[in-house]
Amino acid sequence: MDYEAIFHQAIDRLKSERRYRVFADLERDASRFPLALWRPEGQADQPREVVIWCSNDYLAMGGHPKVVGAVVHAAERHGAGAGGTRNISGTHHPIVELEQELADLHGKEAALAFTSGWISNLAGISTIASLLPNCLILSDELNHNSMIEGVRRSGCEKQLWRHNDVAHLEELLIAAGPDRAKLIVFESLYSMDGDIAPVAAIADLAEKYGAMTYVDEVHAVGMYGPRGGGVCEREGVMHRIDVIEGTLAKGFGTLGGYIAASASIIDAVRSYAPSFIFTTALPPTVAAGACAAVRHLKGSSVERERHQRMALLTKHALRAAGLPVMDNPSHIVPVMVGDAETCKKASDLLLERHAIYIQPINYPTVAIGTERLRITPTPRHEEAHVADLVEALVDVWTTLGLPFAESKIIPLRREAEAVCAYPEMKRAAE
Ligand SMILES: *Cc1c(COP(=O)(O)O)cnc(C)c1O
Repeated sequence: MDYEAIFHQAIDRLKSERRYRVFADLERDASRFPLALWRPEGQADQPREVVIWCSNDYLAMGGHPKVVGAVVHAAERHGAGAGGTRNISGTHHPIVELEQELADLHGKEAALAFTSGWISNLAGISTIASLLPNCLILSDELNHNSMIEGVRRSGCEKQLWRHNDVAHLEELLIAAGPDRAKLIVFESLYSMDGDIAPVAAIADLAEKYGAMTYVDEVHAVGMYGPRGGGVCEREGVMHRIDVIEGTLAKGFGTLGGYIAASASIIDAVRSYAPSFIFTTALPPTVAAGACAAVRHLKGSSVERERHQRMALLTKHALRAAGLPVMDNPSHIVPVMVGDAETCKKASDLLLERHAIYIQPINYPTVAIGTERLRITPTPRHEEAHVADLVEALVDVWTTLGLPFAESKIIPLRREAEAVCAYPEMKRAAE
């Protein structure tokens, strides 16, 4: 058998479907973020300066002096690694402190840290659901891959409810009957469309029909709520959600994931989840850095406010230029392209001609026909970066013959800047 040929064919299939992915070789500059050096393929010795517009380090905490300082300090004191799984010898003081900080962030008795958000969903959902007798999992149809894997791994029966449709969720809860164990799993903020779940209405239903709730707040922790506890904190429903899952890799700028819940739920997951038991713990460096980020954002809203303001400014400026920005109430700025190949071309043009880095978002991350550029402004983007972005996107749209949302196009830099400076909009953004 020609094993190599099989892998070649697999890659060729992706290429023919325009789904083959190429990564940009980037070198972030912590002190000058969102600036980075890009090394074009085959020209690694000729790096070019680019502006990053698609980072999930949403608040730029990855380069925050307090976070970097905590990482350096922990490396010097404790070394680079954790030394084992938590059961063998990997429980160290920085991870204990981090878990206390996370439990406090969400007003829960306990928290448990994992090596990634992906793993925390796999471990959390599968362990909780499999411990509940004959559990029925009710899962939002647009849930992230890590949640789907958690649901699968649990081996429990699953029903999908239409995205954010609480009437449909209620139908399924009624049909399941009052005596059956039920776990509702959903996200608070969906990262591709940037829409927000009706978390209070879901909590109402869970209470009414006796279901447990598990929410993924990955795209909201650090960024929403007075202390960065997420959408559930902002909506005042944290105490009505049983399990809150988050990442340390996006708003908190480092690496790792966690769940926060009652002491007994956390103890059960700690004791039963293979993806927690049999893998080395986060190292002290990462735990200390994440802990510094969580602590800082509990006390500081400056980053959150500027983040929201820059997202709003970006949306307004792109819309004013006639670019097809999808409407949503969050910090995500999706600009619709609708075709995989064009989306990749748009991304390539932005990088090569305009030194702007926005990775194309294609299937299977989003549905076919909804390919897009997913723009994520951070507090470190300046108004002038927004003006450059508008000008670059208008050029790319014109070059590729992509449709503008409105007939009146405002491609001029001066006007884009005027939009950014428009006082009423600034007020609205604040
Ligand atoms: C990114 C993501 C995760 C995984 O988090 P990592 O820490 O990156 O592994 C989980 N859920 C959602 C919704 C995500 O977008």
